[in-house]
Amino acid sequence: MAQLIITIDGPAGVGKSTIARRLSERMDAIHLDTGAMYRAVTLAAMRADIDLTDPVQIRELIGQTEFRFEADHDDMRVWIEDREVTEEIREPTVTEKVKHIASMDTVRCELVEWQQHFAEDYPRIVTEGRDQGTVVFPKATVKFYLTANPAERARRRQSQWKQSGIKVPLEQILQDIEARDASDRNRPTGPLVAAEDAVVVDTTTLSIDEVIETMLAHIPETA
Ligand code: C5P
Repeated sequence: MAQLIITIDGPAGVGKSTIARRLSERMDAIHLDTGAMYRAVTLAAMRADIDLTDPVQIRELIGQTEFRFEADHDDMRVWIEDREVTEEIREPTVTEKVKHIASMDTVRCELVEWQQHFAEDYPRIVTEGRDQGTVVFPKATVKFYLTANPAERARRRQSQWKQSGIKVPLEQILQDIEARDASDRNRPTGPLVAAEDAVVVDTTTLSIDEVIETMLAHIPETA
């Protein structure tokens, strides 16, 4: 098991990926983006044109498909068989459908194993998701739970999209974020919730640098 595991959980659009990238660099750790795994399975199921709500078919698909994830400080790179899908898994059609896959117990069990294997392969990891501090790494070195009010999260998402040249109305982003939060919070397995021993950071009025500084203050200097 890795010697350093920092978990970052929180709702959609709170800035987990940006923060995890920056923090992993500061801590000389690997950045594990567990959302990319749920997205990859979703995309594979969409491509195979199978019923995204049928656990039996999805389980079979996972068993028959080769998924590959490469991590460093930056965004995780993802392959399905020999095709790179790093960009494709971020498309809105995948985002919209990922909730079906993320709410399946059998899928979650399998992906939790994939994530724990990562921690066996790398000595230092910063991992982000919804259940990292609660389910996947209950003994993590330090656990963080990031929050921000939904309107601010929607605004941040909108400016990210804008940078990629995509214009989406704020109202639509807000609705998507709230729907995803509700689905993540209400599922019985691995729901979105802060671990009891997590440091909760409300990022609504903080800059990225301020969030990082706040987090660093909670990480032991020896880590
Ligand atoms: O973090 P990201 O938005 O890429 O995650 C995509 C989806 O994957 C989330 O909306 C959530 O439903 C699911 N997810 C999850 N558990 C994780 C990471 C992501 O259920 N650990």
